[in-house]
Amino acid sequence: MQRRRNAVPRGVYHATPVFAAKAEGALVEDVDGNVFIDLAGGIGCVNVGHRAEPVVAAIKEQASRYLHTCFSVSPYEGFVELAERLNALTPGNFPKKTLLVNTGAEAVENAVKIARAYTKRPAVICFQDAFHGRSLLALSLTSKVRPYKVGFDPFPSDIYRIPYAYCYRCPLGLEYPSCEVACAKHLEHVFKNVVAPESVAAVIVEPVLGEGGFITPPPEYFKILAEICRKHNIVFIADEVQTGICRTGSLFAIEQYGVDPDILITAKSLGGGLPIGAVTGRAEIMDAPVVGGLGGTFIGNPVSCAAALAVIDMLESVDLNARAKQLERIFLERASEWREHMPIVGAIHGLGAMRSLELVRDHKTKEPATAETNNIVRYCYEHGVLTISAGTSGNIIRILMPLVITDEQFTEALSVLEAAIANAGVAATASDRGAYA
Ligand code: PMP
Repeated sequence: MQRRRNAVPRGVYHATPVFAAKAEGALVEDVDGNVFIDLAGGIGCVNVGHRAEPVVAAIKEQASRYLHTCFSVSPYEGFVELAERLNALTPGNFPKKTLLVNTGAEAVENAVKIARAYTKRPAVICFQDAFHGRSLLALSLTSKVRPYKVGFDPFPSDIYRIPYAYCYRCPLGLEYPSCEVACAKHLEHVFKNVVAPESVAAVIVEPVLGEGGFITPPPEYFKILAEICRKHNIVFIADEVQTGICRTGSLFAIEQYGVDPDILITAKSLGGGLPIGAVTGRAEIMDAPVVGGLGGTFIGNPVSCAAALAVIDMLESVDLNARAKQLERIFLERASEWREHMPIVGAIHGLGAMRSLELVRDHKTKEPATAETNNIVRYCYEHGVLTISAGTSGNIIRILMPLVITDEQFTEALSVLEAAIANAGVAATASDRGAYA
């Protein structure tokens, strides 16, 4: 830890002091030989499990042939095949094309560039409590100020933020369903009061907020948003970096809302643990930038492409959507008990196996229990479970375990989490920090 402090900037946060030595399935072993049940999954990157055997085999096979040629110098089949697979698997029965990059943030940047080139319009609409990455444009679309944005301004212009459907803390002070999903219709008000729709290239939104705490909008929400976008020829972008690859019980979360986005962004678990990001969209939109307008030295690296293809193959043989739903049932059974008997549990959020608990000091005031949340994270790792927090106030515990976790491992981890919640207020010494993506 001392070497880490001396060599790595303090701006790089770590949620636990657990230095990894090995990882397999849903377990992480540290350098001292302690074994942890992993409810964080490297922030949702190993839905297929740590070191999934087919993924490791594909990486080794690719590494035995070549590591890098640069797709813009000497193209290779893995890139093209992964693009074909994503074009076929993403929602929407229309011709699609895929750009591969390295990370979620890079995918977000490119999605916005492509939407601007296609519409020839400047503005982008994003949401409160959103997270889209840390590169400067992606960071500008990200909501939370501290620690993500503080000190890094100025940010680009032509970015407008509107309320998300955070029903537990409705930004419009309304209640579902009597609100008639006014937050989605709010977009039309923005076009009257803030920016002309003719100036808007894209609306970018997470189907379930990731870093925002797994907030899940009501069923009609995305249909209304997408319909307004269609009416004004605005590109509707779904950021599925955290929600994708079966996390929510479907390959992509937006499928459960019955919406076909114009552009869909994937990353994280697509690579099974290796870095890769993808922008998949309507062919005519994706082809808008000029030849040479898109690229990057390492885009769609051959080893990452091989890993991602192995992940997609695995999804055909292992029903991870069904597994996500089983895990959801196990979690909800326990969590609804907690919600009833533990006053600190204010709300249960999420979809499928993307689940979180929002912790509050008082059910009426809903004051965020941030220090208590940090205590829970600490109690968990001190008792053999890796978990992370989320939310603009850092008062949400989220679970992003590998979907291959066994029932026994998951139940054991939930028992530790239960004890952690019961002890959350006891040693309220932790500072208001939280986990940072
Ligand atoms: N979009 C979403 C929804 C995310 O959750 C994240 C990462 N937490 C990103 C984009 C950025 O991805 P990356 O960290 O790979 O740049």
